Amino acid sequence: MRRLPLTLLAASLMLAIGSANAATQTTVPAAAVKTAEQLRDKAMNDNTAYEIVSSVTTEVGPRLAGSPADARGREWAIAKFKALGFDKVYTEEVSYPLWERRSEHAEIVAPFPQPLDLIALGYSAGTPKGGLTAEVVKFDSLDALKSADPTKVKGKIVYVDARMTRQKDGHDYGMGSAVRVGGPVIAAKMGAAAFLLRSAGTDANSRTPHTGVTGFTGPDGAIPAAALSNPDADQLSRIVGYGKPVSIKLDLDVGFNGTYKGANVIGEVTGKTHPDQGVAIGGHLDSWDPGTGAIDDGAGVAIAMAAGKLIHDMPQRPDRTIRVIAFANEEMGLWGGKAYAEKHAKEVSKFQLGTESDFGAGKVWLMTASVKPEARGAIDQIAKVLAPIGVAYDASKPGGGGSDLSQMHGKGMAALTLVQDGTNYFDYHHTANDTLDKIDPKELAQNVAVYAAFSYMAAQADGDFGSAPGAFANDGAEE
Ligand SMILES: [Zn+2]
Repeated sequence: MRRLPLTLLAASLMLAIGSANAATQTTVPAAAVKTAEQLRDKAMNDNTAYEIVSSVTTEVGPRLAGSPADARGREWAIAKFKALGFDKVYTEEVSYPLWERRSEHAEIVAPFPQPLDLIALGYSAGTPKGGLTAEVVKFDSLDALKSADPTKVKGKIVYVDARMTRQKDGHDYGMGSAVRVGGPVIAAKMGAAAFLLRSAGTDANSRTPHTGVTGFTGPDGAIPAAALSNPDADQLSRIVGYGKPVSIKLDLDVGFNGTYKGANVIGEVTGKTHPDQGVAIGGHLDSWDPGTGAIDDGAGVAIAMAAGKLIHDMPQRPDRTIRVIAFANEEMGLWGGKAYAEKHAKEVSKFQLGTESDFGAGKVWLMTASVKPEARGAIDQIAKVLAPIGVAYDASKPGGGGSDLSQMHGKGMAALTLVQDGTNYFDYHHTANDTLDKIDPKELAQNVAVYAAFSYMAAQADGDFGSAPGAFANDGAEE
């Protein structure tokens, strides 16, 4: 081989890299950008999502996974997708352990007898018939529990009093959910009789406990576990502060009861050029049972359905498919998301981009993305369309795809995170107060505008966003 002068070699190499780059950049055609702007503006004044979330919370109500309402929720979703005119509506089976809540009761027995307001946590064991009475041992944090002397915990009711504070991005839920998920498991391993926590919630003065799942995976090793409302936690902590032995009687009739077969419900607006390629959006159909699952996550299902409907109603089908997924049983461990990712991992490269809405109904204020470098330009184009409705773009952080779709992202799907204003979310999250009145129709509509615009642009893009098996394994996205 003839040796080129070094400078010439470098220059020709740079030229080759430059032209290869230009050829592989993903872009959104100008016409599609214009249509996305129109979709965005139409969505801002569209009431469809509010009608959908009103429908599911009113006609189905609470949708605890595996309960009779789970099946009614599925029937509702199938009928709603069809009524909205989606081209294809189908279900995919999801099976998971059935956990039931039948009744719960608690009282302080000594030193100051009185009732307590609490709610059992998902996958909690029940107490023996007639209840369980034991002494309380209090900790201020999960770390304090972890480093405790097990002999001080054995046979006791462990109580962790860690208070969540209100944040726009809701990040304190990381701590709150860690106590709720990890605390019961750690306490059980140390031989505790039961576990209580101050609710993972930010409503300091509402006597509504926040439920949620624990880290138990089956009846083996599970102990009774429940959350006290914030005022009840205040009361219990004051009583513990007297320095006298405190005992509580717990009577929880809850527990595992075999296996349940549910399903993800999927509606598609079929792409006209590449029907096998698509954009995945969604929410989860199940909810916790004390409220009606309006902000968690009727809103997410409604946002995604309404965005799909807006795209469906255009004169022409998009180039690629818009796939709206109403996931089964997110609440007790992403069962729907895991089943979906398991089933579709092999087709991951067919997914342009995806993300799920599961953080209430507050406005989207920030977008982050995990895409290949050559698709950053297309993400910039999406950001430009979303900026006028208050969405900032942080190119330095990864996108995780939301709760259930984080599982597809884990398989290599390019993903966005569309961060909503969660300032009030954890006041109501997983409580009896998660009801329709907490949703502002205008803020909900802004979410639909974001989902419709980005989905359409991703469906029309010239090029892909980098989805491939294992593509984003180390992007650091947290879910
Ligand atoms: Zn949720």
